[in-house]
Amino acid sequence: MKSSILTIGISICALNSYAQDSLQMRKISDEIMLHGTCYENLRVLTKTIGHRISGSPEAARAVTWGEKAMKEAGADKVWLQAADVPYWYRGKESLYLKMGKEYKKVRALSLGNSEGTYGKTLEAPIIMVHNFDEFKALPESEVKGKIVFFDYRFRQDFVFTFEGYGDAVRYRWASPSIAAQKGAVGVIIRSMSTGKDDFPHTGGMHYTDSIKKIPEMSLGNITADELERACEKGAPMAKMTSECHMMPQPVHSFNVIGEIKGTETPERIITVGGHLDSWDVGEGATDDGAGCVQSIEIIRAFKALGLKPKCTIRAVLFMNEENGDRGGEAYADSAKAKNEHHVLAIESDAGGFSPRGIGLEMPDSLKQQITKYKNLFLQYGVYDFSREEGGTDIGPLKKQMNVPLAGLLPDSQRYFDLHHTDNDTFEQVNHRELKLGAVVMAQLIYLVSEHGLN
Ligand SMILES: [Zn+2]
Repeated sequence: MKSSILTIGISICALNSYAQDSLQMRKISDEIMLHGTCYENLRVLTKTIGHRISGSPEAARAVTWGEKAMKEAGADKVWLQAADVPYWYRGKESLYLKMGKEYKKVRALSLGNSEGTYGKTLEAPIIMVHNFDEFKALPESEVKGKIVFFDYRFRQDFVFTFEGYGDAVRYRWASPSIAAQKGAVGVIIRSMSTGKDDFPHTGGMHYTDSIKKIPEMSLGNITADELERACEKGAPMAKMTSECHMMPQPVHSFNVIGEIKGTETPERIITVGGHLDSWDVGEGATDDGAGCVQSIEIIRAFKALGLKPKCTIRAVLFMNEENGDRGGEAYADSAKAKNEHHVLAIESDAGGFSPRGIGLEMPDSLKQQITKYKNLFLQYGVYDFSREEGGTDIGPLKKQMNVPLAGLLPDSQRYFDLHHTDNDTFEQVNHRELKLGAVVMAQLIYLVSEHGLN
């Protein structure tokens, strides 16, 4: 008898807590959906600064903007955290393809970190392969002096498009050093793109140090299709010119951090962030202006609601996610040096689309503590807690200090149409979807701050 009274007591307690959490989550949602400023912040970032590659004057302006936006959001404390970053410079570039009788100029982008054509125009025949296995089978004599076209298609059969990206991205990352080993003089790739369009996508590539550094350019899917047909019929030629190069010296730059001090356990920190740098095309709205303004929004919403979190909440605009992760490393280095206690870090770097899930990169026992809130998130359209996803910028926190990571998982269908292209603009972001992403992260932070994670 006694024990059943106790059971009923516990159940009522749990019910109360559930109802209270549900109510508080609704308040957070209403505040952001009705009064959120993240969309306006995104407009200012993308339209007054635009794209902002690490080390550039635009990135420096974005730091100043971020500091101001964080103060306006009402953070108790705002500061800059130093990080030296690489500065890759694109300069002028062009690609002409001769797929019939005459050369025609096509849309193309040099890949980030690539070397250019060293002050010359590179003219060479093109040889096409569909994948690394086909390339391996080619004799050196067939590759020497040629530009290799790696015509690997982004797999459209993965419903969660980040899996398709994970599969294809090695062709962008590693092709030049692989091709150069057989004497190739340049590389053209089909973009890592789900788009049925002709936007080329840039993005990070990497050279193996001991191998000759040859230039790499990408094509949009329509031009890649055209080149594929031309290669099947004959032997097309390319004229490639690019000034791009890595600057010899790193540039002094910063993460922007805004904090709300916790009331009960201020030494326990929950980090939320996105990355402030972008590639040097488009406006860096989806990748990752969205994650930055959502993180600032969380600070604003907590303050506007008068919520006093038990734990300290830190919003971080990380610098240099795209080609070095120096900001993420600097943040983790500092946390480790100060022996900080990080309860959870969450990143939004998958676009400002409708949230569908929260990726969890942490031990099972901690996953269970978060997935018990699953029903509370259903009415916000969030149901998928099954993926191991954190984020690049928060990765070093896990590596260095075993911090549990979470990643906001918005609907992934359009992200790889846009990211790293001239089409990654403010207009592609929907204000409700963007705000809803901030809502879900703020709700998760509220729950973890209130009930802990350990
Ligand atoms: Zn990103």
